[in-house]
Amino acid sequence: MNRFSNELNKLVNRSLDRHVRLAVTGLSRAGKTAFITSLVNQLMHVSTNPRLPLFTAVRDDQLLGAKRVPQIDMHVPKFAYEEGMGALLSAPPSWPEPTRDVSQTRLALRYKPQRGPMKLLQETATLYLDIVDYPGEWLLDLPLLELDFMAWSRQQAQILKGKRAELASDWLAMAESFDPLAPADETLIEQVSARFTEYLYKCKAEGGLHWVQPGRFVLPGELAGAPVLQFFPMVWLEKITEQQWADANEETNLGMLKSRYRYYQQHVVKAFYKEHFSKFDRQIILVDCLQPLNAGPESFNDMRQALDQLMQSFRYGRSSMLKRLFSPRIDKVLFAATKADHVTPEQHPNLVSLLQQLVNEAWQTASFEGIKMDCVSLSSIQATEPGFVDYHGRQVPALRGHQIDGDAKTLFPGEVPRRLPNDTFWQQSGFDFINFRPLEMQSDEPLPHIRMDKAMEYLLGDKLR
Ligand code: GDP
Repeated sequence: MNRFSNELNKLVNRSLDRHVRLAVTGLSRAGKTAFITSLVNQLMHVSTNPRLPLFTAVRDDQLLGAKRVPQIDMHVPKFAYEEGMGALLSAPPSWPEPTRDVSQTRLALRYKPQRGPMKLLQETATLYLDIVDYPGEWLLDLPLLELDFMAWSRQQAQILKGKRAELASDWLAMAESFDPLAPADETLIEQVSARFTEYLYKCKAEGGLHWVQPGRFVLPGELAGAPVLQFFPMVWLEKITEQQWADANEETNLGMLKSRYRYYQQHVVKAFYKEHFSKFDRQIILVDCLQPLNAGPESFNDMRQALDQLMQSFRYGRSSMLKRLFSPRIDKVLFAATKADHVTPEQHPNLVSLLQQLVNEAWQTASFEGIKMDCVSLSSIQATEPGFVDYHGRQVPALRGHQIDGDAKTLFPGEVPRRLPNDTFWQQSGFDFINFRPLEMQSDEPLPHIRMDKAMEYLLGDKLR
């Protein structure tokens, strides 16, 4: 009898245990690795964590504990939590190495259900939380599904202006003599593609530009070196007539580019949406608004454009492309302005307001049926301490921290604009955001943060009731 009731209990537990898949994304260096490391760390310290007052499950003692458990998707690399904590706890502390591919980690959260059948049947229940990290650049590829190779090439030709044209000069010079109608030459295509890829990398590293397509070229993950990442847009439109575009078969250079592009659409872009995106329940999108403010108007506007593109993936209108592919199930999206500890606390409301403005236009013009959205500012791992300094007899807000090379620094980094910056702002702006080293920390204490608890409440609060 006892055995029977134990078995029954197990069965009930299993059927009532719940599961949530939380996706974390953002353009590279937005702070994904730091965020996930901190999220796992805060949850692992949950029973003794005094730093989560806004997370009601912890405040009200409903969340009893969390542990890491083996993930079920065995083909997805594991998120490097231990390595990240190792870097943060070393002397001197350093930032975790960012991941460049999709990665995942699974936690089991033990909690006291407060309502519904769970409360009647069980004193405690388990919520399995899968945290999936993937580069935001991959979402920039969604529009490619609706463009054929010619349309995409035309679009790329149009944006080759200003800084982009300069950065593309090596690629364009090399491809000068590229004959699209000559017999397919795999080696030549590989060489020209390598220059094109270099140009995309330069856009990010030297140009501070975020809108790069195809996104997988700069964050190839396991596809590095594969032929599917060896093609480039035919931006020399005058070299080919419409008829030649249409006729080019696999035996020509143009035909090979066309077929690789199609393969990329089907096996890279579509596959990501089907295998990963369609299974997410909740999404946090991390945005570093401060770096583009530092870098200038071109970089800022480019980030805005990249965010607009990225948000297309959350447009599930009835006729949307994603709805046609599968039924997306994300019901809540949180936008988070990261690295809030880079500015003094009275600037945090401005940071949120700026982020709202950045995402609002795209949000308003699209139909985001059934998705809730919110914006916060946060610091996943706080690296500075706020305070005041005396300036000509006045107390002004300041930050104290250590630069990456270890030198102590106290500064007022500047004001964050409340609204999208205009020309006057760019002429007058005096930003000075520098990279800080993480603070020294103890392994038995949770990582210092700003408003991680607010993000946790939004993303997980209702799942733990
Ligand atoms: P990812 O490429 O999106 O995974 O970005 P990372 O998480 O690796 O973050 C990139 C860099 O941003 C880190 O190396 C840190 O220098 C900085 N960073 C990330 N989060 C924070 C934060 O909360 N505070 C501060 N001060 N810096 C941060």
